[in-house]
Amino acid sequence: MKTGDTFVANVPGAHLRIVVAGPCPHGNVLYVGVTSDPGGLDHTCPVQPEDHPDIHHNSFIHFGDAVIGSAAALDFAIFAKQIVVKEAVSGEVISRIVEGFSASEQARPRYEDFVQGRCSCDRRR
Ligand SMILES: [Zn+2]
Repeated sequence: MKTGDTFVANVPGAHLRIVVAGPCPHGNVLYVGVTSDPGGLDHTCPVQPEDHPDIHHNSFIHFGDAVIGSAAALDFAIFAKQIVVKEAVSGEVISRIVEGFSASEQARPRYEDFVQGRCSCDRRR
C-alpha cells in the first residue's frame, strides 16, 4: 500500500479508507477514513462522489480517525481478505487531504508531521 491507494474493511457498510502518506523509511503508511456520519463531523475536508466511485454522497475526511500502520500488515490483510482494495484517488484529492491535516483541529500533531514527511516511528508514542 502506498499514497493514493484506498481500501475498505471486508464487512458490510465499511467506510472507505485512503492512504494519504507513506510508506516512510520504517515501512509505515498513514490512512484516514471517509465518513458521512453526522456525529462529531469534521467539516475541514469535504469529499464528493466525483472524487471516488465508492463515495456515494457528500462526505468528509475523518482526521481524528487517522491511523499510522504497517504497509506490510495492510498487504497481508489484503491477502487474508480482511480488506479489499478499491480504486486509487487522484493526487489532487491527496493534496486536499494533506492540506486538511494542517487545518483540522482533530488532526493530532504526530499525524500531521507524518503527512509532511516527518515520521516519528522510532520514538515512543
Ligand atoms: Zn517512519
